[in-house]
Amino acid sequence: MLGWHWLIEWQTPYEFHGHLIDKVLAEEKSSYQHIMLVEFKRFGKGLIIDGKVQSTLYDEHIYHELLVHPLLLSLDNPSNILILGGGEGATLREVLKHKSVRRVTMVDIDEKVINFAKKYLHEWHQGAFEDSRTKLIIGDGYKFVEETNEKYDAIILDLTDPIKDSTSYKLYTKEFYEKLKRILNNNGGIATQATSPSFSLEVYVTIYNTVKEVFKRASASYTYMASFDGLWGFVYGGVSPESLSKDEIDERIRQRIAGKLRYYDGYSHQISFSLPKYIRQEFERINKISTEKEPIYVPA
Ligand code: SAM
Repeated sequence: MLGWHWLIEWQTPYEFHGHLIDKVLAEEKSSYQHIMLVEFKRFGKGLIIDGKVQSTLYDEHIYHELLVHPLLLSLDNPSNILILGGGEGATLREVLKHKSVRRVTMVDIDEKVINFAKKYLHEWHQGAFEDSRTKLIIGDGYKFVEETNEKYDAIILDLTDPIKDSTSYKLYTKEFYEKLKRILNNNGGIATQATSPSFSLEVYVTIYNTVKEVFKRASASYTYMASFDGLWGFVYGGVSPESLSKDEIDERIRQRIAGKLRYYDGYSHQISFSLPKYIRQEFERINKISTEKEPIYVPA
C-alpha cells in the first residue's frame, strides 16, 4: 500500500484507527482549524477537521438524523430553531424537513468551513443554506448565545468535540447550558452531540449529567458509526424522547416530516434509546459534571 494516503486518527492517546484515502479533494487552513475533504476508499467523501473525521457520505445520515429528530419530534410545534456549529449544513438539512419550522438560525465560528461546505459538500447540505427559512451567521456560538435577544423553541449543538483549548469545549459546560436555558421558550429543548461511548464514555456520561443538572429532564441515545469506528452518543435536555413509543414516533414522522429519513424511525428510536447494561451502570457510577472551572475533555 506504499504511495497511498492514510488518515491516522487518534481516538485516545493509546489508540489510533487508519482509514485509506483514495484522493485528497481539497484542503484549507483557517485561523481556527485544518479542514480537509477526502475520498475514503470505504466511506466515500469525508470531511476531516484537525485530523478528526467529522462526517462521511457513508453514514452522516445516522448522526444527523439522531441528533435532530428525537428533539424536534418531542416538542409540540417547534418553529424557531438555533443550530450552533454544524458546518456541513446536514443538521440544517434535517431541521428544515420539519413542516412546523419557520426559521433556523445557524451560527458557525469558521467561515472557511462554511465556504468549503457550500463549494464541495452539496451531498450534505442539499441546498439547505439557500432555503428562505435559513439565517446563517459566522461567529462564536458562545458569544452569540450571550448576546441574542431572541428566544428559540429548540437549540441544537453540532460542535467539534470538547478538546482542550479548542473553540468548542466551553459549549459543553453547566454555565453554557444555563445561558441556553435563558434563551429557550417555555417547553423548549436542546440536543447536543455527546462524543463516543466507546472512546470517551466518561465524557458522554458527564455531558448527560451536566444537561440534567441544568434542564432537570435529560435523555441519552447512542448509535454505531462505522466512519468513527465506534459508538456515538447524543444528549437531549428539557424533553423525554425515550417516553415516546415506536408507533408514536412513526406517526409523528408521517405527520410532521417532509422528505425521507434513512436511519430514524420508531424501531431505530427504540434501539437508540435502549442503552446497554454496562453504559447504564456508568450513568449510575459517574457523578461528575462539566463546569468552566473544571471542563470535561475528550482524551486527545
Ligand atoms: N460531526 C462532528 C463531529 O464529529 O464532532 C461535528 C460537526 S461540525 C463540522 C462541527 C462544527 O463546529 C465546525 O464547523 C466548527 O467550525 C464548529 N464550531 C466549533 N467551535 C464553535 C463555536 N465556538 N461556535 C460555533 N461553531 C463552532
